[in-house]
Amino acid sequence: MTIPDDHPRRDSLLSRQRIVDAQAAGLLADSALIAHGRGEAFDYLIGERTTDSAKAAQREALNRLFHAKSPVISLNGNSTVLAGEEAICLAALTKSNIEVNIFYRTDDRMRLLLADIQKKRNKVIETPPSPKIAIKTWREMVESVRIYGENPDAEIPGLHGPRASCSSLGIFQADVVMVPLEDGDRCEALVAMGKQVLVIDLNPLSRTSMRASVTIVDEVSRAIRQMVRMALHGPSHDLSDWNNRTILEDALSEIATAVKQLQR
Ligand code: ATP
Ligand code: MG
Repeated sequence: MTIPDDHPRRDSLLSRQRIVDAQAAGLLADSALIAHGRGEAFDYLIGERTTDSAKAAQREALNRLFHAKSPVISLNGNSTVLAGEEAICLAALTKSNIEVNIFYRTDDRMRLLLADIQKKRNKVIETPPSPKIAIKTWREMVESVRIYGENPDAEIPGLHGPRASCSSLGIFQADVVMVPLEDGDRCEALVAMGKQVLVIDLNPLSRTSMRASVTIVDEVSRAIRQMVRMALHGPSHDLSDWNNRTILEDALSEIATAVKQLQR
């Protein structure tokens, strides 16, 4: 598919195509397309841009990753496909590990997703995200990111079936977990384990958004790309009192503003 460079919704259409291609190649469950479509609808309403309140949430989430003892970035199928490279960069800069963890686990999909993330790691390792980082240093930083998910050997208490599975050295032991596009009850179960849960979700009204410790209402690849830029400057402040409700209200006011503009 060719999308003209000046198409106003170019990024969105390219992301949609990546999801369609990955689904055809067997990396994603059918429901991944539906989840993506819901995300697109909310992204349309917030103007397909990173709002100021989303930026504040990104900064907060980043600081929590920097200050964590054992941070883990959990990637499902859609976030691996859309933002796998950015997530590896972010993990390298914040000394986090990655766990590929999918809701509807099949051996085939896991094999394909783990191969995809390794391919992305091999690409990312070649180019430091800033000329200030030497190539050798960057290699070591990326190589030190562990990728879990192949052998889940632990269960998230309170969940049942394959959705409870996770890795004992990954999500299970993490004090801070960043989970883009998490499901509401898994988010709640992770919070109940005493973890700080950082989510990226375009829907400010989802159960995930409402239950997370920090919610970034932004598109996953845009959000993580921006966090990588911020991470190059290190943590920016000590841990603050954080009111996640305010962030969700801000996101809803952005949507209300868009509606008011329509009514003019
Ligand atoms: P919840 O279980 O939290 O109430 P849900 O069941 O309504 O949420 P799911 O189908 O579990 O939603 O997950 C899809 C979620 O991911 C939606 O809230 C959607 O807005 C969000 N989403 C989809 N694609 C993206 C994306 N690219 N970036 C950010 N968020 C996205
Ligand atoms: Mg859900």
